[in-house]
Amino acid sequence: MKKLLSVLLVLALAAGFGFAKGGGESSGGREFVTIGTGGVTGGYYPTGGAISKMVNKKGDEYNLRVTVESTGGSVYNVNAIISGDLEFGIVQSDRQFQAYNGTADWEGDPQKDLRAVFSIHPESVSLLASDDSGIQSLEDLKGKIVNIGNPGSGQRGNATDILMAAGIDPDSDIKAEGLKAAEAAGMLQDGRIDAYFYTVGHPNGSFKEATSGTKGVHFVPIEGVPVEALVSEFPYYAKSVIPVSANYPGASNDGDVNTFGVKATFCTSANVSDDVVYAIVKEVFDNLDEFKALHPAYSVLTAENMLDGLSAPLHPGAEKYFREVGLIN
Ligand code: GLU
Repeated sequence: MKKLLSVLLVLALAAGFGFAKGGGESSGGREFVTIGTGGVTGGYYPTGGAISKMVNKKGDEYNLRVTVESTGGSVYNVNAIISGDLEFGIVQSDRQFQAYNGTADWEGDPQKDLRAVFSIHPESVSLLASDDSGIQSLEDLKGKIVNIGNPGSGQRGNATDILMAAGIDPDSDIKAEGLKAAEAAGMLQDGRIDAYFYTVGHPNGSFKEATSGTKGVHFVPIEGVPVEALVSEFPYYAKSVIPVSANYPGASNDGDVNTFGVKATFCTSANVSDDVVYAIVKEVFDNLDEFKALHPAYSVLTAENMLDGLSAPLHPGAEKYFREVGLIN
C-alpha cells in the first residue's frame, strides 16, 4: 500500500511538473492552453471566456481545450506569456508596443518572442471620482487618494502618463494607491479612495458596481493640452469617448465624457504552435457575428479593424488564416 502511494505520488508530481511548465500541455492527446485576462469585473475576463467558448465548442475536432485565468492585467500577461506560464493573454495595444520595443516597463529589455494574434475592443482610460471629493478635472486630483492600479495592470502606466502630462507627480502630488481594479469600486463607495483610474472597455462590471451604490460618483473628463500631448507623442494613444449615458445611468454625469484610449489585443508567444493559434483565430473570425453577440463592447468590431493596433509581429498561425481569407496579402 505504502509503495503504491509513493508510486502514485511520483506520478502526480511528474504530471504536475508537466503542467507547471506551460507551452500547451496535453493530456490524453488533448492540448490545454490558458488565456490570461484581468480582474473579474473588467472586460478581459469575459473576453477570455468568449474566445474560449468559441473554440471549446470544437474542442474534439481540434483536440484542444482553452481555459481562462483572472490575472493582474496586461503587464502581468505579457510577462507570463514570455515565461511560458500562459500561452495567451489579453494585452493593451500600448503594452504590446512597449514590450516588443523595450520601453516603459520593459526599458532595455525588448520582448522579441511576443506575437500579435488580433485586436479586440477599444479601451478608454477612465477616471471615476466620488461627487463629494470635488474632483472635476485632473488638476483637482492633487492631494487626493487616487487608485492608479496594481503593478502588472495596464492602467497604471496610462494613469502615470496622463498625470505627468498634466504636471502632476504621481509620487508626491497625489496619494497613489496600487489596488486591483476589482477592489476599487467597493473602496470608492466606502469612501476609502477619492477616485480610480481604469483602462477598460465599456460597459464593465467595475463601473456598473461603482455607479450603483449609495454614494454619488461621476466620470471625470480627461481632455485638453495633456491629452493632445500624449496623442501626438505616442502612436498607440487616440482620443475616445466614454459612453456614460447608455451604460451607467447611476453616474452623476449629464452626458458622455471625453478621454483617450487604446485597444485590447490578443497576444501569444512565438513558441506556441501554429495549429493552436490558427484554430483560435479561425473559430473567432469564421463566427464573428456569434462572437460579437457575446459582449456589448464588441459591437464596433469588424474583421478588418481587428487587425489594427498590432505592433508585435503577427503569429504565423494567425497570418496563415488571414491570408486564406484575404484579410492580408
Ligand atoms: N486594461 C486593463 C489591464 O491591462 C484590464 C482591463 C480589463 O480587464 O478589461 O490591466
